This record gives sequence, structure tokens and C-alpha cells, in this order.
Amino acid sequence: MEKQQLLKFLILLCSGICLILGLLVILGWFIGNESWVQVHPSFAPMQFNTALGFCIFGTSTILILLDKKRAASTLAIIGGLLGLLTLAEYVFKMNLGIDELFMEAYITVKTSNPGRMAPNTALCFFLSGITSVLLLKGIKLIQLAGVLSTLVFTLGVIAFEGYLVNIEATYGWANFTRMAIHTAFGFIVLSLGITLLSWFKVRQYNSVNTKRIKTWFEGYAISILLALFVIDVGLPLGVAAGTLYVPLVLFGWYISNIRAIAILAVAATVFTWLGFVFSPSGSSLWVVIVNRSISVIAIWVTAYQLFHNKRKKLALELSEEVLQAEERFKRVVEFAPNSIILVDKEGTISMVNRETERLFGYDRKELIGNKQDILIAKDLEDQKVGEFFGSSSVDDMEGRDFIALRKDGTKVQVEIGLNPITINGAQMALATFIDVTERREQDKTIRKQMAELKLKNKELEQLAYIASHDLQEPLRTVSNYVQVIEEDFSRQLTPEMVKYFGSINRAIKRMSGLVRALLDFSRLGKDRKLEKTDCNSLVKNVVADLDNLIKETKTSIHVDKMPKLLTYKVELRQLFQNLISNAIKFRKEEAPSQIFIGCEETEESWRFSIKDNGIGIDQLNFVRIFHIFQRLHKNGKFEGNGIGLANCKKIAELHGGDIWVESEEEKGSVFYFTIANLSLQ
Ligand code: ADP
Repeated sequence: MEKQQLLKFLILLCSGICLILGLLVILGWFIGNESWVQVHPSFAPMQFNTALGFCIFGTSTILILLDKKRAASTLAIIGGLLGLLTLAEYVFKMNLGIDELFMEAYITVKTSNPGRMAPNTALCFFLSGITSVLLLKGIKLIQLAGVLSTLVFTLGVIAFEGYLVNIEATYGWANFTRMAIHTAFGFIVLSLGITLLSWFKVRQYNSVNTKRIKTWFEGYAISILLALFVIDVGLPLGVAAGTLYVPLVLFGWYISNIRAIAILAVAATVFTWLGFVFSPSGSSLWVVIVNRSISVIAIWVTAYQLFHNKRKKLALELSEEVLQAEERFKRVVEFAPNSIILVDKEGTISMVNRETERLFGYDRKELIGNKQDILIAKDLEDQKVGEFFGSSSVDDMEGRDFIALRKDGTKVQVEIGLNPITINGAQMALATFIDVTERREQDKTIRKQMAELKLKNKELEQLAYIASHDLQEPLRTVSNYVQVIEEDFSRQLTPEMVKYFGSINRAIKRMSGLVRALLDFSRLGKDRKLEKTDCNSLVKNVVADLDNLIKETKTSIHVDKMPKLLTYKVELRQLFQNLISNAIKFRKEEAPSQIFIGCEETEESWRFSIKDNGIGIDQLNFVRIFHIFQRLHKNGKFEGNGIGLANCKKIAELHGGDIWVESEEEKGSVFYFTIANLSLQ
């Protein structure tokens, strides 16, 4: 964060300088102070528009820093347009009337068009406009802004130098207006401010990964290269100008790619000899050749040294990173919730964590350096002692249980997980132990309870079968005797007795129906057979069987396309029959019933639905109706014995599925059931 504060200060400093520079020159134009406008009577003046541009960009940079996006982008666009329109004036040889819009140009030294800023100045403003707008966008564009600003820097530096070494071509293009010396200085400062701002913004996005920033130095390296070339060309041959390139090679230190040093050294060598070609002649040829050769040697010696130092530094950083990673690894292991130990191929323990001390009751000093064997109960036959931390058996040991030995001699059942790892080139195994004594006990109890439950269920089914089967007999006897009495003693029977016998007969009939239903329920699925079933024809048959009822009740039935599945066909048919006949039975009197039978494939199953527009079911009864003998209408309005849906539930479960209902009273119901996805192709 401290670094961010420093960056903020530097950005404010750069933009402040630009702003003050601009204001001073504007003031100079107004009050006629030529030294502010021109610096030296023979230099080109800073045009009024240029000074205005510095005020605009100085302000917009501060505004970007303060995150005042709208105002900043408006200013940046105005500044950029100022540059672009001036460039257009040069390119299309026209006058847009902007040059002297605010101030009549009364100083015209080295000016091709009075009041018009130099073309390189216009280009710099245009680029600054683009970079400033980019700074307000996302991270990628902010980085691009940083790179683009180095272009402005380059133009500024070489123009500035042109004044120092007296080469006009670097600050004046063709015979157009020249860039003023303090304009060049202003662009150096402005571009630095923008680069720092992009740097600042990238750090805000991602304070850890700042690697990308360093690559922007490449842009500056090019600036320096060109700047040095200008100096070299500006000085007479023979002066040891080639050595100037040594700082360029040094700059390679700041570029993240280590190869940059070599690339810069090559570039410096090429430019040293280019300087030889373009510089004005001075000393004799052999002096120049010796001079340049010495420069090249100096460049390469520096590059070599730098390369080695940087390599060392990178290696050091890497080893520091490794150390930090190791430290992190140690902390993770130490505070892991399971016992972890690190052993080598010979089975010697080299690291243990807190949980290991707790689980085994040893102090870590007692374990480190000792063999793994002390943690293993040896009196058990199937414990492959000794070899199992070795790399070859690591995979076999994954998730295996074994009995471990505590310091106090007690045993503990643990599950072991082994991970082979290489530490400092040595094959090791990281063993994790989980105390599973309690879990295994629970597993045992659950297994026992499941077995008991299965047995009880079977007993219950048998009981239902026997009870219903055996109940038929006494019921038949009662029924027979009632019939005998009615036939043989009909004359003696009073009307009241006839009425009572009528009730007894109805009760017997009902009871016999219930007993038969119970018998069917307990038998359901006993002889089941898995068959390839075309559900289309199965549903069609069910509908055909119910044809009379359907016609009578004017019911319409729509059936979706059904799949071919592996099912218990007989039982599935019964399931459809129950649901469809219920949908007809529980219809509303006033409206003809409409039934939709649909089906949908889900990830693990097929889901069927039977939708009606009948009387519906209260939500309170959604579960109850699937229980045996549960009916919602006891007053005889709808016939039935309340076993149909219990059968359906049993059949759905036989198919590894489930059944449920969604309904609203008076609005109809949808019964859903699923069956496991065993589709046949
Ligand atoms: P039954 O039809 O012999 O009464 P079921 O087990 O088939 O027995 O149904 C239990 C109860 O669920 C029925 O008594 C009825 O109240 C309700 N029910 C079943 N299907 C529907 C339906 N499609 N619409 C409204 N209620 C229904």
C-alpha cells in the first residue's frame, strides 16, 4: 500500500508540472512574456493550443486518479481531438481556424503556420488522448495505455535531445512548425505520469501479480535506444559515443525476460556501428574504429556481468519461493484435522503433525527418525508390516483399514491413505490416518439393523398372506350359515331380522373383499418377471379394457409417446390400470373428465404422469392416500377399498422408483411415478 501512496504522489507531481507549465505559457502569451513562451529567442515558441493541451491533460490525469470518469474522459477526448484536428490540418493542407482561435500568434519563430502546434506535438496529444481514455477501461486496455504512453515519451525525449545536441530533425519534421523545448519536456513528464497511472491502476486490480508491468520497460528501452542514437549522431565521430549504450544494456535488468539483456546488447552493437555511418566526421578512421570496437566490448562485458547477476537473482528468488512453498506445506500438514506422517522408502519417519501426536500418544521427538513399525500392531496376520510405505505398494494401500498401535499399547482401527511425493529428489510417502473405530462400529450397527428390518418385513408379509388366506375360511363358513338360516328359516324371520341379515351379508361381502385385497397386496410381485415392455401398447391395452367406462363417462384420454423398457410387465399394467381408473372414478360431476398420460426421461429414471381434471385431493392427504386401506370418501359416494394406491406404491418401488401426487382440490390431480432407467435399444 505504501508503494501505491508513492505512485499517487508521483502521478500528482507529473500532472501538476504539466498543468503549471501549460498555465505559465498561457499567461506568457497573454502578458507577452516571451521567455516563458519561447525559453530562448532562437527556439520555437510553445503554441497557445499546446499550452492549453498541457492544461487539459494535466487536469484529466488528476481526474482519472480521483476516479472522476466522466469529466476525465470528456477532457481527454477534447485534448485528443485538438491533436487529431491539427494533424488533419497538416495532412490535408487546410486551415480549420483552430490555430489562432484563442490567441493571435505574435511569435512565429520556426513556425510554418502561425499559431499551429508542431505535427509531432499534435501526434503526442492525440496519443495522450487515446491512452487517457484507455485508462478508464478494463485491465487489458489499461496495460495497453501504459505501453502507448512510452511512444509519447520517446517522441518527447528525442525532441528534447535535439535541442541539446543541436539536431533539428528530431524536434522539427520536414519544414513544419518545430516542437518547443519545454513542450518536449512537458511530454516526457506527461507520459511518465500516464505510465505511472496505468501502473497504479493495474496494482489496484491485482496487487500480487505485477509482473506484466515490468514488460512496459521494453517501451522505454526503445526510447532510450533512439535517444542515445540521437546523441551519438549529434556528436562528432571519434568521441567515445558508443559507450553511451552501456546504460541501455543496464536497463535490461528491469525487463522481466532475462534474454532482454542480450537483445539490448545486440541492438546497442548495431546502433554503435550505425552511428559510425551517420555521425559527422571528426578523428581519423582507425581511431574511430578502435573507439567503436572498445565501446562494443564494453557493452558485451556489461551484458555478460548483468546476465549472470540477474540469473543468480532469479535463482535466489526461486529458492525463496520454494522455501515459502515448503513452509506453507508444513503448516497445512501441521494443522490438518487428520494424522499425517512422512516416511521414506526405508520406512523411517521424517515428519509428523499435531494430530499424529494426539492419535498415537507419542511426542513428535519420539517418532521422528524412528521406523514406521512402532505404529503398527504386529500380532495381526493380514497386516503387511514394513513394506507398505514403499513406493511400489502405495496404490494398494489406498483407503485400507489396519490396526494401529498407540504408545500405551492400546489398538486403534485406522483407515490409511498414501500419497507418493518426491522431496529433494527422494521418493517419500505421505501417510494419512483416520481413526475409524467409531465409524466401523456404526457401520456394523447399521448393517445389523438393516438385516433385522429385512427379516421383520418378510415376517410381516408372510403374516399378511397367512392371515388373509386363513381368514377366507371362517368368513366362508359364516356366509354359508347365514345363507342356510335365510333359506331354511325364512318363514320364522321377522322383517327386522331380514334387515339385520341384509346388513350381515353386506359386511361379509365387504370383509371378504378386504381380505382378498390384502391377499393380493401381500402376493404382489411374488412371481414377478422382468420383461421387455412396449409401454405404448401396454397403456393402449389398459385403455381398451376400460373402454365401456370411458364411453359411459365421456372421458377423453391423451397418451404421449411411451418408451420401450425393461419392466415387471404384469405389475406395471396394474399400476397404470389403478391410476387411470382412479382418474375416471374421482371425476367431477359437472365436467367430462380429461386425462393426459405423459412420460419424460430424467437422468436416472423414467417419470410417468397421469393427470386428470377431477375432484382433486387436499394437500394434507398427499401421503396418507398411499397407505393401505386409506380412503378419503367413506360415505359410499365412490366405491373402493383403499388398497389401489398402496399397490401402486409397492409396484413403483419394485421398479426402483417412487410415486407421489400433486393436486389441488376441485382442480384435478397429477400422479407421478418413476421407474429405474433400464431402457432397451
Ligand atoms: P380406492 O380408490 O379404492 O378408494 P385408492 O388407494 O386407489 O383407493 O385411493 C385412495 C384414495 O385416494 C381414494 O379413496 C381417493 O380419495 C383418493 N384418490 C385416488 N386417486 C384420486 C384421483 N385421481 N383424484 C382424487 N382423489 C383420488
